[in-house]
Amino acid sequence: MRLLLIGAPGAGKGTQAERLAERFHLTHISSGDLLRQHVKDQTSIGQTIKAYVDAGDLVPDSVVMDMLRKPVVAAVESGGYVLDGFPRTVDQAKSAFEVAHALGVEVQAAVHLDVPDEELIRRLLARGRGSDDSEEVIAHRLEVYREKTIPLLEYYAGREWMFTVDGTRPPGQVHEDIVDRLQKLAAFDTSGETR
Ligand code: AMP
Repeated sequence: MRLLLIGAPGAGKGTQAERLAERFHLTHISSGDLLRQHVKDQTSIGQTIKAYVDAGDLVPDSVVMDMLRKPVVAAVESGGYVLDGFPRTVDQAKSAFEVAHALGVEVQAAVHLDVPDEELIRRLLARGRGSDDSEEVIAHRLEVYREKTIPLLEYYAGREWMFTVDGTRPPGQVHEDIVDRLQKLAAFDTSGETR
């Protein structure tokens, strides 16, 4: 199974990705977690991208694409992936599709976690993860989401493998809703294996 989770910062992508990974034996790949780890480890990628992450801006596409290639291919070999935080722009989606298509590892379902701004801000302030969770940076990250990622949702709109769930509910309910919707997709049977 190969899944994408799309949602604003604070929508619950990480939480839901973890639950889906556990339920369907997938590898959870979070572009944000990987990038933060690079910053923490002060790798050459980390040094290049720190300013973007701290400001809540998107990191250049080439960095993210190069960083994800290996983990995605490895995940496919070990049962599938749930990608959290990538793609975030139409350009990323188009480039990723080309690479994935060539390798036969295209995404099979995209889940949009929908949460209103007031709730996102409340959650992000409560989370206070670090440099990118200050009030000012949160506002900027939501702006970047509107500008860059909403067009991605519009680009995917109408594709039968993409669906939206109400992400304001407790995590367990959101999870069950996602599983239910996945099972209704033609590409999956009830055990979650691909046909
Ligand atoms: P996240 O934890 O997914 O909200 O990501 C944290 C930060 O990492 C973002 O604010 C961006 O700076 C960067 N980032 C994560 N994923 C991507 C991506 N797909 N493209 C560009 N930048 C990203």
